[in-house]
Amino acid sequence: MPFRPAFDCLWCGEHHATRATDDLEGWAHLCPDCVGRAADNEFLRFRLRRALAERSTAAAASSATSATAPPAAGPPAGQE
Ligand SMILES: [Zn+2]
Repeated sequence: MPFRPAFDCLWCGEHHATRATDDLEGWAHLCPDCVGRAADNEFLRFRLRRALAERSTAAAASSATSATAPPAAGPPAGQE
């Protein structure tokens, strides 16, 4: 699932608004209370694992985009 800055918790239905775009709650669509209960609940644990994977995939994608930008600005060094 994509990041959402505000959502209704998938587990308890509580509305929650995140403070930052890397808040795990926004990726898991779970409120902080339910994130805290993940150790006791297989569904919550599954959602948290997915959220962590999706967040790191998004972070890798955005850093890859910025990493490829500089070489396009000029010719490669050492060609002549
Ligand atoms: Zn909840």
